[in-house]
Amino acid sequence: MKTTKEIVLFLGPPGAGKGTLSHLCVKRLGWVQLSTGNLCREHIAQGTEIGEKIDFAIKSGKLVSDSLIVDMVGQWLSECVTGDQTVVFDGFPRTVPQAEALNELLSKRGDVSLRLVRLTMSDDHLVTRLLSRIICSDKKCQAVYSVHEHSSLKPRKENICDECEGSLVRRSDDEESAIAERLKIYHEHEKRLLSFYKKIGQSICNVEAHQSLEEVYGSFIDMTGYSE
Ligand code: ADP
Ligand code: AMP
Repeated sequence: MKTTKEIVLFLGPPGAGKGTLSHLCVKRLGWVQLSTGNLCREHIAQGTEIGEKIDFAIKSGKLVSDSLIVDMVGQWLSECVTGDQTVVFDGFPRTVPQAEALNELLSKRGDVSLRLVRLTMSDDHLVTRLLSRIICSDKKCQAVYSVHEHSSLKPRKENICDECEGSLVRRSDDEESAIAERLKIYHEHEKRLLSFYKKIGQSICNVEAHQSLEEVYGSFIDMTGYSE
């Protein structure tokens, strides 16, 4: 099996900026990103059997079953990760069974270190961010932008992706009832996930996410000691 040097987990509620910060780490630090949400949306767009099973859960803001998610992550790790790369997981694990399964997967891969970074932000601010989010409709891209009037994360051309010129769309789960459901589910699982990591002695670095992206990135770099 291929080896990985380090896995960095970005934990945090929907809208905290996990995907955006991961993307910056890919650009600046040369990391490889896995977003389980992106993988799920890719399955739905391609109309795979998995996509059909998870479509309703995603639209209504529920979690996809642990076993499906863990299988996707295991497959991605063995197919897409080469050599000595640092991998950032954005949105995984979200439950204790997923965290346990990840530890199990890593124990089979030999010398891999795990770092946890948790983005924190109040629910009110999260809702504002999610209602302003647009993403690239090209499922191989899924770059994330904001249409908030004061945002520095707007696309250069209205509704056109800076990276691939795909058209930009709102996510089907970025509407008020699905957002409320996702935040509720996030808070239920977060407590258990944090207790799990505390119990196994895994430290977590907390980063305040209600700052500009450059400030979030700066805090993240200062606290973790990574260098470009
Ligand atoms: P998550 O992956 O945690 O759900 P995203 O990275 O998709 O969050 O970001 C959610 C929304 O917030 C997007 O519209 C993104 O452009 C915007 N965003 C991300 N980080 C910041 C930031 N530091 N400041 C302002 N807006 C941000
Ligand atoms: P995200 O793009 O991270 O906001 O995820 C979008 C949706 O995909 C979530 O609301 C879930 O329905 C599903 N999903 C993504 N990651 C996971 C995960 N680790 N466990 C369960 N469901 C997930």
